[in-house]
Amino acid sequence: MFNDSEYKRYARHFTLQNFGVTGQQKLKNAKVLCIGCGGLASSAIMYLAAAGIGLLGVIDDDVVDESNLQRQVLFNINDVGSKKVEIAKKRILELNPNIQVKTYVSKFNDTNALEIIENYDLIIDCTDNFYAKYLINDACFERKKPFVYGSIFQFEGQISFFNGKTGPCFRCLFDSWPPPGLIANCAEEGVLGVLPGLVGILQALEVIKYIVGIGSNSLSKLILIDTLNLDTTPLEFVQSKTCPICIDKNQFKDLPRPTFNKCESHAISAIHLKNIINNVTLIDVRNPDERQICEIGGKLIPLYNFKSSVKSLDAKSTIVIYCKSGARSQEAVNLLLEEGFKDVFFLQGGILAWINEINPNLSKY
Ligand SMILES: [Zn+2]
Repeated sequence: MFNDSEYKRYARHFTLQNFGVTGQQKLKNAKVLCIGCGGLASSAIMYLAAAGIGLLGVIDDDVVDESNLQRQVLFNINDVGSKKVEIAKKRILELNPNIQVKTYVSKFNDTNALEIIENYDLIIDCTDNFYAKYLINDACFERKKPFVYGSIFQFEGQISFFNGKTGPCFRCLFDSWPPPGLIANCAEEGVLGVLPGLVGILQALEVIKYIVGIGSNSLSKLILIDTLNLDTTPLEFVQSKTCPICIDKNQFKDLPRPTFNKCESHAISAIHLKNIINNVTLIDVRNPDERQICEIGGKLIPLYNFKSSVKSLDAKSTIVIYCKSGARSQEAVNLLLEEGFKDVFFLQGGILAWINEINPNLSKY
């Protein structure tokens, strides 16, 4: 049932054909989880809140950065540095105090995924990385929860609906993921500011239609949105005969997924490093015995000592970290990002790449 304020607020839904009080009650009873709190979420969660979804969950561990403001209209300049989900909760309740909001200051990961989605009827994917998208698919199919997928790239967006029970699933559509070096992201490739707003609204639309039970959804269809020509193309797809979920019914814990790589925009090439090497704080995270074989300078802080040395590093300087092939330095960069460092990079391919591309006279091992 609704109170007087709700009757006024949802008046245009109550008079809407095939929607009415029954449709609004379904929204009020619904629990929707929004994974990610950036550009897609900025429009999606505000429209879901306005529409009267009873419980909105939002999960993200990120803080607002000034570079977000070009498209993440949920935030303003005063929010820079604040936790995104905390600001989101405030904005949602200012818009609609009749609904409930639950926030999770955390990454959505394979440890918490199943437990969190358990509490919701429908999931909305507002993330920006492959790891999260495969994880959402796997967790939703494990718990039989429907989800609405969305993604953006430069001027193009896409959305689709998956019912979480029968295929096709996200893995039927994308059976493999590109190697980390080929994965582009917003920071590197740019994104038209209005695009995530548009895609997020379409995601909210799919959520509302599904809950109320009106219209048809984009199951088995990938809707491509081309903003430059203002065009949408529905691409139909079918269940993959080799899908590890729909066909082979693999368990959530056994499925391979791309690794989460916050560092994607924090990799630099050997040639790039050569040009800036005199202006950065260079750190070698290999072991002392490896250092004796070859080195390109910088301070030696083996990875096993790295965590305890973070406080001695200057967060204001540009830091470049290297190791043998790039794995340990990437781990060190992730550690620094978690500590709030921004201007940190790792040498892609490690010292081996440097030897191949810059100085073949160094000893290889
Ligand atoms: Zn599948």
